[in-house]
Amino acid sequence: MSELILSSELLNRLVDGRTPSKSESYQIYQDAERDPSELYKVSQFLRNNHKGSMVTYSRKAFFNLINLCRDTCSYCTYKSEPGQSKISMLSKKNITELISIGKKYNCTEALFVTGERPEQKYQEAKTWLKENGFSSTAEYLVYASEIALEGGLFPHTNAGNLTKDEMRELKKTNVSLGLMLENASERLSEKNMVHQFAPSKNPKARMKILQNAGELKIPMTTGLLLGIGENPFELIDSIYSIKEIHDKHQHIQEVILQNFQPKYDTPMRDSPSPQEKYFKIMVAMTRIILPKMNIQIPPNLSPKSYSSFLSAGINDWGGISPITRDYVNPEFPWPQIEEVKKDCSSAGFQLRARFPVYPEFFSYVNSDLRSRMNEISDSENLVSKEYIK
Ligand code: SF4
Repeated sequence: MSELILSSELLNRLVDGRTPSKSESYQIYQDAERDPSELYKVSQFLRNNHKGSMVTYSRKAFFNLINLCRDTCSYCTYKSEPGQSKISMLSKKNITELISIGKKYNCTEALFVTGERPEQKYQEAKTWLKENGFSSTAEYLVYASEIALEGGLFPHTNAGNLTKDEMRELKKTNVSLGLMLENASERLSEKNMVHQFAPSKNPKARMKILQNAGELKIPMTTGLLLGIGENPFELIDSIYSIKEIHDKHQHIQEVILQNFQPKYDTPMRDSPSPQEKYFKIMVAMTRIILPKMNIQIPPNLSPKSYSSFLSAGINDWGGISPITRDYVNPEFPWPQIEEVKKDCSSAGFQLRARFPVYPEFFSYVNSDLRSRMNEISDSENLVSKEYIK
């Protein structure tokens, strides 16, 4: 009982704008496991205080550029092997066609996703890139981003551990970049753990990329993957790792909290997805550790209950596509945007479309990108209601 009182006092101080220390967060988490109601009240308060009653999403087209990958993560169904039916190697023509479909459906985001440096492992990828006139996946991403931008979409690239020079090049056309930290624990890279065969997921390597992005002043989306063998304290430590890098560079525009879902064709096919209570508590913990952050959960991965996460502290649904599937979680279709709008409205929130860069990060992008966005944005740096209709 005394521990619960201690936690309530702590939570009250958070309402006054204080950030908890790591050990305080551990305590809050342990109390919330027994009864999360106080934590949710505070996370909701902080959310409303910093984000009002608006919830955002990005209307996107998903470009599954090359899904061969140098690494292997135990939960990944996105990655293909040569010869498999799910392999994707988008030609320049495929890209141009998808850009015009995206434009027709008033998408604003071109999400470019690839595996980790496929050309380093697969001769097929190396040869294919060469035939198309590129020496690396990163070079192809630069080209694809240029044509997406010319076609009226705003690129956001998620291609793993890019070098600083590659990021500098992509910054010319991409309004933001993405790289999931997933978890800051080195333990998950050990033998028999999910990242044993994925050196790019080593937390030191990931943090270095996030730091490079900070030095380049690139608005970054990052996030954590829940239910991949971490313990709750490692998850909390990971939120602090994001806080640390953001405190230093002020460039993390969004934290995604993604719940693992088992895939039949992966070694983790029999592992359960995380319990919803754990997931929700961690959303609320992220809100109290990073009170002003944009916090997202993907609605398609909690199809029955996503709107209940509004009361745990989220303020964004990430990219939702009216035209392409979620290739990372192909068994989970995106909800209809109109349905999401209705669900938000029933919960007392207003759904608005944003660009892949959040309004408060517009000043980070170059003047060409800004003026292109200004053509269809409103006074709040959101996509104008007239454009989406
Ligand atoms: S999650 Fe990413 S890095 Fe891991 S195997 Fe899949 S594509 Fe590769």
